[in-house]
Parts: sequence; C-alpha cells; structure tokens
Amino acid sequence: NEQVNILGTLFHNKTMSETVNMVMSMLRQDREETAHIITANPEMLMIARSEPTLQEVLAHADIITPDGIGIVWASRILNTPIKERVAGYDLLHNLCEQTNYYPFSVFLLGAKEEVNKKAAENLSKLYPNLKIVGRKNGYFKETETDHIVEEVNKASPDLLLVALGVPKQELWIYQNKKRLNAKVAIGVGGSFDVLAG
Ligand code: UDP
Repeated sequence: NEQVNILGTLFHNKTMSETVNMVMSMLRQDREETAHIITANPEMLMIARSEPTLQEVLAHADIITPDGIGIVWASRILNTPIKERVAGYDLLHNLCEQTNYYPFSVFLLGAKEEVNKKAAENLSKLYPNLKIVGRKNGYFKETETDHIVEEVNKASPDLLLVALGVPKQELWIYQNKKRLNAKVAIGVGGSFDVLAG
C-alpha cells in the first residue's frame, strides 16, 4: 500500500531512505506552496481525536511519516504493514546529511533562545555544508506571527524547521504555509532541545 490508514490518518508507507529522497526532490523544486511534512506519533493521533482542527491539518499534509514504533505495530495488527518507522529527529539528521550532495538552506524556528542558538551552532558543526539562513526562538505572541513570517520569507530557506511542540507547530505551519517562502516545512518537536544537548 502507498498509504496506510491508522485511526483515520493516512500514513506514507515509505522507508526512511525513500522519504529522504522524496523530501530532497521537494527541496529542489520551485513550489507554489510550502510542502508540509508531518512526523506523527500515537500521541498526535490521540490529540487529533478530540481536535478537529488537527484532523484538518493532517488531512492536508503532503507527507505523514510514522514517528513511533506504536504506529508500525498498529499497522501490522491492521494487516496493512508500514515498512518502517520514520522518526522526525532521524529524518532531520538524514536530510542534513544530504547537504554533502545538495547544500540546501534551513531556518530554525522554535524552542528557547539559548536552545535555538546552540542547536544552530551544533547543526553547523555537524553539517558544514548546511546553510543556516536564519533562526528565531519559539516564544512569540500570536500578534507577532506576521513579523515572524516576514523574517522567514526574507531568509527564504529551502527547509523550515518548526519546533513549537505538538500540535502547535503543525497548526502554525498549516495556517501560514500559503504565505511562507520555504519549499518544505517540518514540525520537529523537541529536536532542538536534543541537538542543543
Ligand atoms: N516551544 C516553543 N514555543 C512554545 C511552546 C513550546 O518554542 O510556545 C518549544 C519548546 O521549547 C520545545 C519544543 O517546543 O523546544 C517542544 O518540545 P516537546 O518535547 O514538548 O515537544 P513534543 O515532542 O511534545 O512536540
């Protein structure tokens, strides 16, 4: 199956390396609208059950990857096995590794200021060919959103990483993707905290 339905959410049934290839080709394209990649875990599906807005966001995502072995198990029990787990944190690293072949640019939005800064520093040490074109912490008021979008658009990254927690980051990307000047956006949860160490 190309897509596997778990609790009403259609997961993309691809391996990690197939997913990386798909996202890389999205990063190379001129796109009209920012592609939204969601790495969904069981917790997100539970939140979606009582939040119709999150269901809407999931229904409009370009790719939903199974982030969590629970999703993979559920797919086996339902007799529509998903190939493998594609976790957000791993996807992030695997994409950054591709900068050795195609040096794309990235904007880091989210987490506390010190965490965001340290994550950016550590990412550029790990991936010298990654072009970090901007970063901004995730503690802003809703009224500042226009300004944040402007900042992102000025930097015009290929990839926008959004770490505002689930489901805030998914809603933020969905609400702004039509006016964002980024090829791909991914909600990465606590990844900046892990990267900052
Ligand atoms: N965060 C943020 N702005 C907010 C709320 C959260 O930038 O208004 C950040 C927080 O600092 C952390 C990330 O979002 O870096 C969420 O991490 P958590 O581990 O809670 O993520 P989850 O995996 O639950 O999405």
